[in-house]
Amino acid sequence: MEGLELTSKIMEYKHVSAFFIAIFIFVAFGFVVAQEQDQNQDQNPSSRKIIVFKEGLSDADEARIIAGSRGTRLGRLRAGNLSVVQLDKAGEARIAKYQGVVRVEDDIVVDALETVNGNVQKAKAPIVPAQVLPWGIDRIDADRVWPTSETGAGVNVGVIDTGISISHPDLAANVKGGVSEVWYTSSYNDDNGHGSHVAGIIGALANTIGAVGGAPSVNVYAIKALDRNGSGYLSDVINGIDWAITHGMTVINLSLGTDVDVQSFHDAVIRAKSAGVIVVAAAGNSGGAVLYPAAYPEAIAVAATDISNTAPYWSSRGSEVDLAAPGVNVYSTYKGTKYATMSGTSMATPHVAASVALALKSASDSATDVLGNCIAVYDTNCDGAWSPDEIQYKLEATATDLGVPGQDDVYGWGLVNAYAAMQ
Ligand code: CA
Ligand code: CA
Repeated sequence: MEGLELTSKIMEYKHVSAFFIAIFIFVAFGFVVAQEQDQNQDQNPSSRKIIVFKEGLSDADEARIIAGSRGTRLGRLRAGNLSVVQLDKAGEARIAKYQGVVRVEDDIVVDALETVNGNVQKAKAPIVPAQVLPWGIDRIDADRVWPTSETGAGVNVGVIDTGISISHPDLAANVKGGVSEVWYTSSYNDDNGHGSHVAGIIGALANTIGAVGGAPSVNVYAIKALDRNGSGYLSDVINGIDWAITHGMTVINLSLGTDVDVQSFHDAVIRAKSAGVIVVAAAGNSGGAVLYPAAYPEAIAVAATDISNTAPYWSSRGSEVDLAAPGVNVYSTYKGTKYATMSGTSMATPHVAASVALALKSASDSATDVLGNCIAVYDTNCDGAWSPDEIQYKLEATATDLGVPGQDDVYGWGLVNAYAAMQ
């Protein structure tokens, strides 16, 4: 715009001087024009970036940096030093050079982790089936915990997913709130089905209909960060994690992942754990390397097993796997008032999240020797409360070992057992 104004002023001068000034402008700025033309010819001229600004930078300074890079801010994340900015290649290179910018990262797409080739059966009509005990809930012995009157009451579990059906008679009473982080809706109602399925494995009601979750009195929160197709921007997932931290979640379930390691994703998981939030994440369905965030050491990575306690070929594997849980042909609640049978490490993960919710209510084993030293096996600082590390260790130590004895790449420490974790 300034260039155009300048050019119009030049026209007020006599022809000769205008000619030389015009030559100067052409020589001085010609290369910029050429660069812009290259950009315009680029197949993908601009993309979404997560900009990590230095802590404490003023709004004005951030705005100046974005403007100086000819970027468009699409949003500021809950972690205030992070912004999503639309930038072309030149702007990306430019913004990275500012002193006030710590990192420039791709705002990648993360996916829900139900299997494409699994046995997915989705109920066609909103029928009201009689309640059954899903095999996975039976297998982790959650049903053996309930008679002791422990059903997860008072524990807040955040499901960072596609939302949760707000109209489902087998879920609604346990859904205590939530948020939508996706751009097209402010409702956390589930427009996909995946999030409702995951939520039902954790906390479908113990009533007379449909399914029942592992912790059927838990408080479930719908943190919608994935869209109607089951995909979402990493920035929305990070926002969901920060919402969970500031809204009192004790556990978060991440049945989603990506094979791209992004520092801001890892930082968000670290923030959660540091705040005392237990992070449970799906290992992945590629049969290959464990995805992020499950691969981060601060998350509990969950692999899948079938009804024969065998991992399906698609359950991702690696030293990062911590636990295994039922993830094949899992029956649970779905979109609207439906039910569905689905497979994936997405389904295994909430079995562990439910087990965490129950184990959090188990009594501390705090004990001291004659010298006053803490000798507890699980509550290792004898403070009477469960930290994320203590709960993870308790679930791993009480899991049913599968595969190669001890920890292995396929099953981690073994099949989670909620009943054993309560003892
Ligand atoms: Ca039910
Ligand atoms: Ca403790």
